[in-house]
Amino acid sequence: MKRTRLTERLGAREQVAAGEVLVATAVDHPERGTVRCPAAPLIGGSLTRLGRTVRYGTLTITSPQPSTATVLATTYLDRHGAAWGIAAAVHPSDDELRQVVEEVLDRWSAVFRTRRLLTGATPPACAGVRRTLALVDRALTTSTGPVFMLNPPPEIEPLLDGTNPRDVRAVGDLTGVPTGSVVVVPAAGAHPDLPRSASARGLTLVDATCPFVAAARAEADSRVAEGDRVVVAGRAGYAAYPGITAGLPVPPRLVESEADVAALVLPESDPVSCVVQPGIAMSEVLPVVAALRGRVPTLRGSHPDDFCYEATDRSDLAHHLARHCDVVLICGAPDAEDTASLHRWVAGAGGEPVVLDAVEAIRPQWLVPGAVIGLLPSTSARPSLAQDVISALSGLGPLSVVRRLARSQADGDPPADPLTGDPRPSTAPARNPSGVPGEEGPRPRVPADRAAAPRQGRPAPGGFGRNPDAGSRPGTGATPERP
Ligand code: SF4
Repeated sequence: MKRTRLTERLGAREQVAAGEVLVATAVDHPERGTVRCPAAPLIGGSLTRLGRTVRYGTLTITSPQPSTATVLATTYLDRHGAAWGIAAAVHPSDDELRQVVEEVLDRWSAVFRTRRLLTGATPPACAGVRRTLALVDRALTTSTGPVFMLNPPPEIEPLLDGTNPRDVRAVGDLTGVPTGSVVVVPAAGAHPDLPRSASARGLTLVDATCPFVAAARAEADSRVAEGDRVVVAGRAGYAAYPGITAGLPVPPRLVESEADVAALVLPESDPVSCVVQPGIAMSEVLPVVAALRGRVPTLRGSHPDDFCYEATDRSDLAHHLARHCDVVLICGAPDAEDTASLHRWVAGAGGEPVVLDAVEAIRPQWLVPGAVIGLLPSTSARPSLAQDVISALSGLGPLSVVRRLARSQADGDPPADPLTGDPRPSTAPARNPSGVPGEEGPRPRVPADRAAAPRQGRPAPGGFGRNPDAGSRPGTGATPERP
């Protein structure tokens, strides 16, 4: 690549106004043919940050014939002979702007090199959320009016792309939803009184509550019914927390950290149970459970088969990228909970995370030395952002994209598959991670006997949380991963 690199000043036939920069998305070059310029948004981003007016378009080189624009370009040939590069044009008389553009292109061409990009093999949305979206999609095809989605978390909004955002409306409760409408309950669940209220209002509920959330809710219900004091090991800010705890006759206590456990005031006489909130990485929740068990040796907890490993698998991927990449680009809204989790996991494993919410935000200095780039899309990122980043980086030298699959699966008696809604066999095969099914199974329900009574033969107390390696620690190999 370096041997074919060419930096030139040329002329083009496009009209460029004084004061504006035309950043090339492709160049018709007299010797190199069509030059692809997928890194154009990176050039445009740098110029925009400098307060310059940017326009995107193709350039046709006319040199040595008279031209209407001055073009600055650096191009190279890949191993197949195809031409790639970066280029921008200014008005021929605009010397000050030409100098600025030259400096920007120099900075970007300085990071041209062959790279590897490591990323995940599955979309950031968990199986439960993908199933919710599939059910929304289906509801849209059958409903004659808009479909109302109850309390969609912010992360789900960009994922509504590809359905029909005009016909999906977010609501916080049923007030104002017209009679006869379809209302979708999200994966995080809802108040248990909702079906009754919906029925009284003549609404059709599509219950997309994740089976893991439903199982945790059933666990909390049954423990409270037995007279236990329930402690939830989880996070108040996570979407599933209200779905697990809303309407319980005795409000549970929430512990988010070992410090919370130390500060917990517990009854002397009542037995204590712990419900693990799904959706949290095992590496973060199990130390809390262990601390709780240290205080309450007779603690009864959720069965490990009911644990959700989605966050654990994502944290394993983040740890892997942190160890193997020079920098890890995290795509997503800077203030989103999921973005914060990815940042925490990467930084905690010694990596270099940077957060971006648009491809134009990438800086050349992030890519130095940059032989291996990590890419982690947050659930808050628009769905196409990760691909846009890959595309842009492919214009800075040959890029090899390597996708890694991190997936855990409990073999025991887990809740129904959150993606398909199907009951899982006792020796469950790995779920198909690659797509939303066209046909969901019956609404996943926690079996009545499970909801109503504690499991028989559980390894309580002592069996709960005894496997701290359950896919959480990087490098232990405890989480089954496939290349
Ligand atoms: S419990 Fe797991 S699969 Fe279900 S919604 Fe939460 S993260 Fe997704």
